[in-house]
Amino acid sequence: MRKLIFSAWALLLIGSLALAQDATAVKYGNTITPEDMRAKLTVLASDDFGGRETGTEGQKKASRFLEDFYKKIGLAGPVDGTYRQKFSLYQADWSEVYIHDGKNKKMNGDEFIFLGNADMDKEMRLNTVFVGKVTEDTDFSAIADKGVVVVGANRNQLAKLREEGAKAIFVVNENDERFKQMLPRQARSAIQGRMTFDNGSDAAESIVFYVTQQLAADLLKVDTEEMLAAIDSPSDVKERKVRFQVKKNINEIATENMVAFLEGTDLKDEVLVISSHFDHIGQNEDGTVINNGADDDGSGTTGVMEVAEAFAQAAQDGVRPRRSILFINVTGEEKGLLGSAYYADNPLFPIEKTVNNLNIDMIGRVDPEHEESGNRDYVYVIGSEKLSSHLKIISEYANITYTGLDLDYRFDDPDDRNRFYYRSDHYNFAKKGIPIIFYFNGVHPDYHRPTDTVDKITFDVMAKRAQLVFHTAWILANRDERTPVDKEDDMEYNR
Ligand SMILES: [Zn+2]
Repeated sequence: MRKLIFSAWALLLIGSLALAQDATAVKYGNTITPEDMRAKLTVLASDDFGGRETGTEGQKKASRFLEDFYKKIGLAGPVDGTYRQKFSLYQADWSEVYIHDGKNKKMNGDEFIFLGNADMDKEMRLNTVFVGKVTEDTDFSAIADKGVVVVGANRNQLAKLREEGAKAIFVVNENDERFKQMLPRQARSAIQGRMTFDNGSDAAESIVFYVTQQLAADLLKVDTEEMLAAIDSPSDVKERKVRFQVKKNINEIATENMVAFLEGTDLKDEVLVISSHFDHIGQNEDGTVINNGADDDGSGTTGVMEVAEAFAQAAQDGVRPRRSILFINVTGEEKGLLGSAYYADNPLFPIEKTVNNLNIDMIGRVDPEHEESGNRDYVYVIGSEKLSSHLKIISEYANITYTGLDLDYRFDDPDDRNRFYYRSDHYNFAKKGIPIIFYFNGVHPDYHRPTDTVDKITFDVMAKRAQLVFHTAWILANRDERTPVDKEDDMEYNR
């Protein structure tokens, strides 16, 4: 009910202002064209950039491309004159982990995957027992300081085994066929750990191997039928010595957020942030399959570049925004919103003076639903009501006055299962109490696939969406008041 009244009031306000186009804003908004966007995105999403995975040479090429661009259009480098906010990420490499089955060394990803944390100088030889399934009847008295082979253990059961003193746990999946099918896919992330901000040196030790039934049986020197037959009478299987080694290698990954700054005039201490992520998910090992990430998030990065160019052009013509604007293309989004998290914790300008974040992540496509309905001129607008009651009104005003898109708010529904509000970089700004808008075209079958390519981009619609960002930014950067944070209650959603 409250929402309904609010919307009616907002529409009245918008209705009374809608005819008042700012001719200067129109002029620079019109510099954002489908042709310009195609030229930029064709480079960003080219095979040459190899899918722009964080830390790779392909992403470094994208960095240089952005740096050259921001320099060329005359924006300032806000990090000691440079356009790079550099930092390191760390990634554990578990490729040297092995289990000896009595005849051969089995390497991580072969017939098992390692999920845990440890670092050993030398091979461990561990007396290992079979416990079948963990149930109320399980006898834990014989497992202290030993290895344990267990069938189908969940997280609580693993914790229980550890609590009872198990040193290493070998988990067998009851559905061995499904495990073997999943294994190749899981192996990659098990061998290359997640990228993180610290090198994990003080993480708790745990040694858990997920193994095939065959490997488990080999370790116990029985055949798989014997092992499975002993699930309810595990002491039928004898204790055996098992050899393995867990070697952890930490790789340091040098990466950077790309940043460009336009100083404002009388309100220049206040900063509007316009963002995208310029990393994507990269390519396969030999480079034969490239995920070009044209929509995700080549489109948003192109959008930020175009908006930056429009503002830079205006500034060159003597029309500067009152507030300053920071254009930022973050790294590590696909690794867990890492670049934006780094920025939010290490801001180049005070967070209290950071007035808004407009984040663009995927604006280059029309999703299947809108393709079918024929209504292509839409964009999902997410989060505009979360922290400030003013932001959505300003966004609506910009749209009605300049761009006339269908603004779709369905993903603001707190019950929406997709939870997009939490899934891109704006969220790291929202967590700091900064009102944000996230612009998004929805998912499609090419999402995170090698088929997310430039030829599928709808540049006409994409340009209109970028113009909406531009006009919204123009208003936010020039109006007297910054948008107040007057809906902090909604921070409860921030988990
Ligand atoms: Zn994305």
